[in-house]
Amino acid sequence: MNEVIKIIEKFAPYIKKKLEEKSDRPTDRYKLVLRKFSQNFLEKYELFKLKKIIKYSYNNSPFYHKLFKQNSLKPSDIKSFSDMIKIPYTQPEDLQNNPKSFFSVPENKFVNVLTTAGSTGKPKKAYFTKEDNDKIVKSIALGGKLLYGISQKDVIRFTFEVGYGTEIWGTRYYFDKAYGEIIGALMLSTGRLSIKDELAIIKEYNPNIFGDVTSRISYLTNEMKKICDLPSLGIQTIFIGAEPTPNTLRKNIEKAWNANAVIGYGINEVGPLIAGECDNKCGMHLNEINYLLEVVDPENGEHLEDGEVGEFIYTTLDRKGMPLIRYNSHDLGRIISEVCICGLPLKRIEIYGRTDDLVPIGAGDNLFTRKFDDILFSVPEIVDYQIVFDRKDGIDQISIIAESQKINKIIQGEIINKIIKISKIENGINVSKTIAKPIVKLVKPNSLERDSIKIKRVIDNRGLYE
Ligand SMILES: [Zn+2]
Repeated sequence: MNEVIKIIEKFAPYIKKKLEEKSDRPTDRYKLVLRKFSQNFLEKYELFKLKKIIKYSYNNSPFYHKLFKQNSLKPSDIKSFSDMIKIPYTQPEDLQNNPKSFFSVPENKFVNVLTTAGSTGKPKKAYFTKEDNDKIVKSIALGGKLLYGISQKDVIRFTFEVGYGTEIWGTRYYFDKAYGEIIGALMLSTGRLSIKDELAIIKEYNPNIFGDVTSRISYLTNEMKKICDLPSLGIQTIFIGAEPTPNTLRKNIEKAWNANAVIGYGINEVGPLIAGECDNKCGMHLNEINYLLEVVDPENGEHLEDGEVGEFIYTTLDRKGMPLIRYNSHDLGRIISEVCICGLPLKRIEIYGRTDDLVPIGAGDNLFTRKFDDILFSVPEIVDYQIVFDRKDGIDQISIIAESQKINKIIQGEIINKIIKISKIENGINVSKTIAKPIVKLVKPNSLERDSIKIKRVIDNRGLYE
């Protein structure tokens, strides 16, 4: 990213005057300059950086040195992107079990560690040096300018929680530095406050940008609209993400605030912000300068074409403290390679869920539990929900417990009717008789147990994995 910033800064003054005649928004200037980079240029640049980081990791990271040796690989064997499939994946468990084996600099060079709770309870750990952090901060700042035109005029309220093992994109640290210290916006960052205190802060400082994970924004929206007129608060842009955000839920948030809600995506151990939507909201622009993404077939590990849905495998192209090569995020999604109408040459990605979201059900089918998001969140009264799987006498039982602002049989019936039309459930009920008719229970908002961040979406009591 440093190199790209340098190139942009070098070219910017020459065309600045001309561009300023067209627009006074700094973001448009950056976009126009960046448009000059073709996807072809970016690919060459990525390959150059990839070869460098592979050689660096082989020489400095005990984990990768061993992995390459075990597989009789040398850095020179990786000549193109297609050669990457020769390298086995790095799994999240590797970062849970022995993060220090990835250390590629002396331990005293690390200045912070980000943790993410894993499915087995043991957090994944990623350590960062000051140099790593500086690069991340610069890339987030550039993304803020390019995608949202963030400037000194902005007042930004972020309420991301910072805790041990929390699944949040990075920490507030990166955003405060990027948008505050580098761009010069006024940052109002705290953890989460009570609704009353939140409202008081918004009224006192008038932020125009607000950000937190989708479920928290959704909760705030529902609670605050009871006591005030949300559009009158003047929030124009809402950053959401860090968890699945169905379009229906986004639209509910946008309508309530009369604001634009854009989705960002990151993975603590890879990068706190890997991709973000532009105003067109048609997929998230991937930071291809710092991260290489491969989309692979989860069954056979082969590379998939752009547009095909597969597992997302990341390589950090600039990380020096603890580089990751072919890290399997277990996210499922696809690349959209067509150039976005905003003109940024960066590819866009769409994420549909995680391989862990595939739940075996009925007669050997795999149900993608995210299908429930669109059904539940398209009902305006529904605030949040949980799915519970049980098995009785060999028959799968699906219960949906949904927090609803109104509790009545009409809403309940509407949800049941949509769920039984999901083809795999319909087959299980009517054809293979392996699934009982789903149960929908409506409860008052805030009835479901939440950890510090969100509701556990899926509970599987069937003991299938024991
Ligand atoms: Zn775009």
